[in-house]
Amino acid sequence: MSENASSVSAWIGLGGNLNDPADTFLQALDALRAISGVTLEAVSSLYRTAPLGLVDQPDFLNAITRIRTQLSPVELLQCLLQIEADLGRVRTAQRFSPRLIDLDLLLYGDICVETPELTVPHPRMHQRRFVLEPLAELEGELRFPGGTMLGEWLDSCPAQSVEKIGRLVGSPEKPSRNHTPTP
Ligand code: ADP
Ligand code: MG
Repeated sequence: MSENASSVSAWIGLGGNLNDPADTFLQALDALRAISGVTLEAVSSLYRTAPLGLVDQPDFLNAITRIRTQLSPVELLQCLLQIEADLGRVRTAQRFSPRLIDLDLLLYGDICVETPELTVPHPRMHQRRFVLEPLAELEGELRFPGGTMLGEWLDSCPAQSVEKIGRLVGSPEKPSRNHTPTP
């Protein structure tokens, strides 16, 4: 972590469709919470979403979390990739393939990053209803870097089955391992 860094709000997307994704999400949130320089501020409901691209695979579960962090965008990405690996994700070359856990850095304050390893805002988030709907749940009036409002992106986002199925955690600071979906 950079010394004397000020903190920034960042949004992280969680997704997965192998094993028990909701339990894996709780482990990922625990791992995020354990990082020095990261505080969890909010966690969305859990959503069940139809796969995109490669449709012959199980439905995905998705959620998002807003954190406050003193890590730089690249430091944060490295933490996300490490958590994915620690939780057993094995990367394949094929995009849209089934996965245990996918952690994407969606937004990092108002900052735009364009490097070979990291693009922020996440370059495909505006086409992903499974990202935009949980964002709308937590911050409906969100404005993206560049000025576009979340509602505008939702209006132009392709159709996709995205169903809210319950709460993932009781509160940002105190996750419940009982993730049975509640109405
Ligand atoms: P996807 O999330 O699009 O299915 P992967 O999870 O396999 O793809 O990510 C592939 C690479 O994308 C990562 O190794 C990472 O370096 C890069 N990447 C670029 N921008 C981002 C971002 N905003 N969030 C997460 N990964 C990103
Ligand atoms: Mg990813």
